[in-house]
Amino acid sequence: MRPLSEIDRGTLRRVRVVLADIDDTITSEGSLTAAAYMALENLHRAGFIVMPVTGRPAGWCDHIARMWPVDAVVGENGAFYFHYDRAAKKMHHHFWASVEERRKNRARLALIEREVLSEVPGSALASDQAYRVADLAIDFCEDVPPLSETDIDRIVAIFERHDAIAKVSSIHVNGWFGDYNKLSMAKIALADLFGLNWESARDTVVYVGDSPNDEPMFGAFPLSVGVANIHAFANRLKSKPAFVTAAHSGEGFAELATLLLNARNAA
Ligand SMILES: [Mg+2]
Repeated sequence: MRPLSEIDRGTLRRVRVVLADIDDTITSEGSLTAAAYMALENLHRAGFIVMPVTGRPAGWCDHIARMWPVDAVVGENGAFYFHYDRAAKKMHHHFWASVEERRKNRARLALIEREVLSEVPGSALASDQAYRVADLAIDFCEDVPPLSETDIDRIVAIFERHDAIAKVSSIHVNGWFGDYNKLSMAKIALADLFGLNWESARDTVVYVGDSPNDEPMFGAFPLSVGVANIHAFANRLKSKPAFVTAAHSGEGFAELATLLLNARNAA
């Protein structure tokens, strides 16, 4: 992980697509700051394709796709993407699994939920669970006193003994059934919405994130960036980002946006 300040201008100038995690990447300590939102808006106005790629629920993503200065949003760690067509005033939903598959998975996740809450004291259902369509989010840090690494591992192990996938974000353990992740759905969204072929377009994409659920994205791109708080998770990461910002969270995101915009303006 090299300091982002060492990145060369040629690499920055190739970027056309900005994919970004939300929690603790765009947001800072649970809040969306004016500076981070301005960075998103400036990138969008400058013509970058801007797409948050998050573990957050469908309910939030409906709002984000509709109201934020973004082109689309991937949510629930890749369970879907939403794209709002402003001209047609139409929200486009693309889900990985069918309605029937999602219904069956929901019942299986309910069993896991009961086991986690009874076996890991201090864990809780994430407060945004009611707005999710495909995954189960267990809070270990957002609205509960932080759990230990051992407890986080126990939550992951419960998901895995049910053959579910489990990923650790900075605040939740998210688990689901289905062979998808942030990367697989980002690829589908870029192809469907912008006609971008992954293999030929990957040099024009930057991904910025902060935690282990971002790993598939860090591993997929030559240009991946961690905001400075990624250091706290470094021991959990097999795929690390190529670069790290000097600033934490939303300020780190704004740092990256400024470099991208300056490189474009200088071109
Ligand atoms: Mg995050």
